[in-house]
Amino acid sequence: MTAIIDALIALFRALGFLPKEDAPTPTTTTTPPPSPTTTTTPPPVPADRILFPRGPIKTRGPKGQDLGNWDNLARWEPQITNAVKEFGNAYGPLLLACFSVVETGGNHYTTGKMTGTPSQVVKGGGNPPSLGLLQIVCGYHGNAVPGADCMTPEGQWRIGAKLLTQWIREQGNWEAALANRWHPGTDPGSGYTPQAYIETVRKLIAEVKATWPQTPTTTTTPPPGKGNPFTKPIIYDLRNDFGMYGISSAEASKIINSRFENRDGAAPRYIVNHIQDGTTPGSLQWWARGAGVQASSTVMANRDGSILRIVPEQHGPWTNGDTCNPTPKSAGLLALGGNPNRWSLTLEAEGKPGVSAVSYTEAQLRAICWQFADWMIRYNLPLANVISHASINTCSRSQCPGEQNMLRVLDELKRAGFA
Ligand SMILES: [Zn+2]
Repeated sequence: MTAIIDALIALFRALGFLPKEDAPTPTTTTTPPPSPTTTTTPPPVPADRILFPRGPIKTRGPKGQDLGNWDNLARWEPQITNAVKEFGNAYGPLLLACFSVVETGGNHYTTGKMTGTPSQVVKGGGNPPSLGLLQIVCGYHGNAVPGADCMTPEGQWRIGAKLLTQWIREQGNWEAALANRWHPGTDPGSGYTPQAYIETVRKLIAEVKATWPQTPTTTTTPPPGKGNPFTKPIIYDLRNDFGMYGISSAEASKIINSRFENRDGAAPRYIVNHIQDGTTPGSLQWWARGAGVQASSTVMANRDGSILRIVPEQHGPWTNGDTCNPTPKSAGLLALGGNPNRWSLTLEAEGKPGVSAVSYTEAQLRAICWQFADWMIRYNLPLANVISHASINTCSRSQCPGEQNMLRVLDELKRAGFA
């Protein structure tokens, strides 16, 4: 009798119904209920102000310089948030706040106080000079907002918010606005090239967001422990395999680094399916060598059924930041805010847009399904979060990756049990 029970226990263990003998006991069954005296629900991020961390800023400047203390920024709320609300941009008030960290460490007066005289306003270089919290050239931009005084903290936030919004609209995204309008020059003393400025701001944003309460993921498919039902394809990685695609190591690095570093504090929440306009070598050569081209992807799916990894998943690729007349399918992604690439895992399949039938090879289709299944399992994403580039941009990408291709992939995933 004992032997039969032992055999049943062994069988249940093998099937995964019981923990393996050497497996750690799942914490969910042993965690005692939280004691009411120790539980504290983290406060929600207030909508009317940035929730700053307290104390020293951990991120350093390009030359390792200390950037001061978050408390110097926190004291200007709700002025920062109100100013950005007044002029509106998709990136939110934290971006402008981080510009001020780089410019002055959140100081308007040389005394470090919140009030002072015009002669105490922090003065930078140039003629006319840059001034105040955001180092605005008041001599040029002082009248950008009627009624705002460039020499006061409130005026700085309002004028800065207006200029930034205007330049983002003109340049397409905040990085281009910064590089071409806000900080086009290089400051050899501090080491702030436009690129170093952008990278510092990204790190600052990530530092702040890491302290915010995380919204729990509520989606669950497929059941935990489920294996990928598709066969794992051959996987290449651009870091090592660039030679196969006719590009140099330096060109591969350029593409791999075309990304939102650490997703600017965001996370992979959507899978966006794309079609190239040609082959993977051709696309990579264009991304590396095309004048002014700024593009990358998480992976490529080749017609021979192999996958090429490009941008590591912890970083946001530059594949689908071009929102234009989106469809409801991408509403969830766009509602997450900011550049949609920050929330996207992207796949670019070899092929051509504008084909009305399924254009994938059989091997390619299976590789795409394996990749999407892998992401859905590892990031706990439902099938509704697998979307087409076309759903983000119907203006110029309505054929990406092609309706029949998209339907076929979704159908295969559905048949494999994903919902
Ligand atoms: Zn696309």
